[in-house]
Amino acid sequence: MPRIQLLPDLLVNKIAAGEVIERPASVVKELIENSLDAGATRVEIHVEDGGRKLIRVVDDGCGMDADDLALAIQPHATSKIAREDDLFGIRTLGFRGEALPSVGSVSQLRIVSRQRGSDEGHEIRVVGDQVEPIKAAAAPPGTTVEVRQLFFNVPARQKFLRTAQTEMGHITEQLARIALVQPRVEFKLTHNNRTVYHLPPVEGMRPRIGDFYGAEMAGSLLEIHRQERGLSIHGWVSRPADNRSTAKWQYLFLNGRFIRDRFLSHAIREAYRGLMEASRYPVIFLALEIDPSEVDVNVHPTKIEVRWRDSNLLYSQVLSALRDRFLRADLTPALTPDPSFGRTYSRDISDTDGPPEGIEPGAATGHAAGDGAQTDEALAEQRRAQIRQSIADFFKTARPVVGPGVPPSPIPDEGWTGRPTTDRSAESIGYAARLAEPDVSRDTSPGMPATLLPQMGAGDGDPAGESFVPDVIIQVHRTYLVAETPDGLIIVDQHALHERILFEQLSAQISRGPLESQRLLIPDTMDVAPDQVGVIEVYADTLARLGFELTPYGPGTIAIHAAPSLLKEGRVHEFLRDMLDRLSVRSAPASPEMLTNDLLSMMACKAAVKAGDPLSQEEIRALMRERHRVERSSNCPHGRPTSLRLTIRDLERQFKRA
Ligand code: ADP
Ligand code: MG
Repeated sequence: MPRIQLLPDLLVNKIAAGEVIERPASVVKELIENSLDAGATRVEIHVEDGGRKLIRVVDDGCGMDADDLALAIQPHATSKIAREDDLFGIRTLGFRGEALPSVGSVSQLRIVSRQRGSDEGHEIRVVGDQVEPIKAAAAPPGTTVEVRQLFFNVPARQKFLRTAQTEMGHITEQLARIALVQPRVEFKLTHNNRTVYHLPPVEGMRPRIGDFYGAEMAGSLLEIHRQERGLSIHGWVSRPADNRSTAKWQYLFLNGRFIRDRFLSHAIREAYRGLMEASRYPVIFLALEIDPSEVDVNVHPTKIEVRWRDSNLLYSQVLSALRDRFLRADLTPALTPDPSFGRTYSRDISDTDGPPEGIEPGAATGHAAGDGAQTDEALAEQRRAQIRQSIADFFKTARPVVGPGVPPSPIPDEGWTGRPTTDRSAESIGYAARLAEPDVSRDTSPGMPATLLPQMGAGDGDPAGESFVPDVIIQVHRTYLVAETPDGLIIVDQHALHERILFEQLSAQISRGPLESQRLLIPDTMDVAPDQVGVIEVYADTLARLGFELTPYGPGTIAIHAAPSLLKEGRVHEFLRDMLDRLSVRSAPASPEMLTNDLLSMMACKAAVKAGDPLSQEEIRALMRERHRVERSSNCPHGRPTSLRLTIRDLERQFKRA
């Protein structure tokens, strides 16, 4: 057995640094927290080269005298707790006495401080385990901490650092997690001498949400306020319809500290359950205040997790705060009603003049969910409004791909007669056009895109594959296509099938080169989370292959110069939002193929017709024709089936004929 020995201080500190200081953003977090604990009303953060070269935090807090300055850099030295009991009454952000010695062990550290009321300041320098003697220094009241050459003596950590842009993204994210709950404190962040954020003191969290994530988001949130049983809950949350693809947008704060907590996450999940798809997440900014004795914050080195004395209280209070708010809210998205809605619907599914039961013709938006019983009705209405919008969108963007002789309107004037369509030119419009669009590179006959050629067992003598399209296909509930087959019938999910078709076409196209992309005359800008700006740089190659050209455009904004042609205008932001959320939570970069696949299936999903979209006969036929040409058409890219079969034998069995 080797002999046990006490580790030298530098090594102890480096081990602590390994937990607390992961990257420049962790230094920024620790230093700002110290400034706030010192009662600062103004904190300035200067960063150079993404924090690699320099991080300087200047505050106007209480400052330190020479003795405290010498102690501050010692491990386990803190002014914030003195005895064990204090651990159960923590009102400060720090208390472990680890940050400064940790930072000192992996950088060149310099602290200048002048105590309030004193007229002289002091300075101390630390490099690794070398501490220089304290000397007098001229300084304004408050403290300045300078961290240079971070990780100069930890090559492994240094290698792990990303581009300055990416590190700045992490730094702004850390700033947001603090500044959102410290609205009365002024913050200024500069990078290479350029101001990234200047946040004046404000009242409340909402203006700060706007500063970081854009006025649009800040304006769309619902306010939450509840004070009961010793727990105060205040904040802003999204309407259920306004949801995201990851849990990244959940900002939870406890007594002024950003935390992650599974009880809170559950409560939030539960509050939104049934109001949005299970795979989606709301946007949450919630600040909780509770007596410090009710919670143990000493369970994680960076204090991001806590332990509750009464987690049930927390769960039930957060759940009811959100539920009560939704019951009072009008959750209907503001969309213009389409007066033809009821009429079109009845024509599609029956011969009667009136609408089918339970469907109100032209039911307008604006139903308030006045009480619990009406929530379902509000949701149903919300869904109808979305359907109307996608119908409107669809007809706005559907356009012919072949010659000028094509009739401009994809909407047949009469209802479907039940006879098969023979007019080829009419079939090249609307979705038929969109189905064929992505692949025109292997044209074999004029006006006939290569994807219209059979790919899977379709007869060679039948280039259009028409013989595979049943004569009679009807759309039911604007969601399913039902068609006769030689041995029975088939029911197709229109969205799943279209998604699969687009996915296969996109995959084929990307294997030959970047996707077809459309350049914008004037770049479009979009608000994103500060740490997502760096993501577009990290994944620049993949994004270019998908047909995107994106550039950073300020701390929480990106500029879109080009986007894939397949994505309709309205879906570009939607796709990017989901994509950035997904990319920014990836811990390790996936293989480029997996990533591309993932993104192509997201794109196919966004571009495909939705359940609820009415389709013309031409569009229905185009979809069914493609069904026989694409590979793996039986399942959508997520693996769900696209179609169900019912054979004559099945029917006979059901009707007890056999
Ligand atoms: P902790 O914050 O957990 O106490 P730190 O290592 O971060 O540990 O800081 C050690 C001590 O140095 C603090 O307890 C505090 O007394 C003092 N200190 C650090 N930063 C500042 C500052 N900006 N202003 C005043 N005092 C500070
Ligand atoms: Mg600290």
